[in-house]
Amino acid sequence: MNFLLVIDLDNTLVGDDEATLAFNQHLQSKRSQICLIYATGRSHNSTCELIAQKQLLTPDYLIAGAGSEIYKDDKLDLDWAEYLSQNWDKIAIASLAQQFPQLKPQSPKEQNPWKLSFCLELAPTASSVLNDLQEKLAESGLAAQIIFSSNRDVDILPQTSNKGNALTYLQKRLQIPPDATLVCGDSGNDISMFEQDARGVIVANALSELLE
Ligand SMILES: [Mg+2]
Repeated sequence: MNFLLVIDLDNTLVGDDEATLAFNQHLQSKRSQICLIYATGRSHNSTCELIAQKQLLTPDYLIAGAGSEIYKDDKLDLDWAEYLSQNWDKIAIASLAQQFPQLKPQSPKEQNPWKLSFCLELAPTASSVLNDLQEKLAESGLAAQIIFSSNRDVDILPQTSNKGNALTYLQKRLQIPPDATLVCGDSGNDISMFEQDARGVIVANALSELLE
C-alpha cells in the first residue's frame, strides 16, 4: 500500500447513492494500492451500520467519534486511547457542561470515554455559547477542545484528539509520505484534516464552516 486515502463519510463519501456506488467501483479497482481510512464523527456502531447499509468498502482503519477513537478490524487502538487519556478529565468536563442548558446531550450511543457530544440548535447565539464554554474550561484548568460541526453538533474532546491528529498518527505508523496522503471532507470536524501535511479535497457541497 503506497497511498493513504482518508475520507469523511456523511456528505462526502455518502449522500448521493449513485455517485457513491460509482466511486466505490473505481476505488475497488485500485484497492490493493490504497490504505483506506474512513474519518467520521459517527460512533463505531453507527459507522458499521452505515457501511452495511450503503455497501461501502471495508476500510483498513476507521477514525470514529471525530478522532476520539481509531479502530482496525473492529478493535480499538489502545495506544491512541492511552495517548488521549493523558490530561483528560471527562467527569469534570461533563459537570461543567451541565451549566450550559443550551447544550443538549446527544444519545448515549454517540458518547465514548474520550468524547462528550451535544446538540446546539440556537444558531445565532451558538458562537457566544461556545466562547463561554471555552472560557469556563480554561478557567477551570481543564484541557479540552470544542468542535462545532454541521451547524449543530458540539463535541468536546481531549486537546490532542481530532480527525487530523488521528490521521497523522496513522500516516506516521504506516510511513506513508504527505504527498501520498489525500484527505476529503465537507464540514467543521474535517478542518483539522486540512491542517495536516497532506493533499486535500473539499467537496463541492461543503459547508461554509469549512470553506471559511
Ligand atoms: Mg461530513
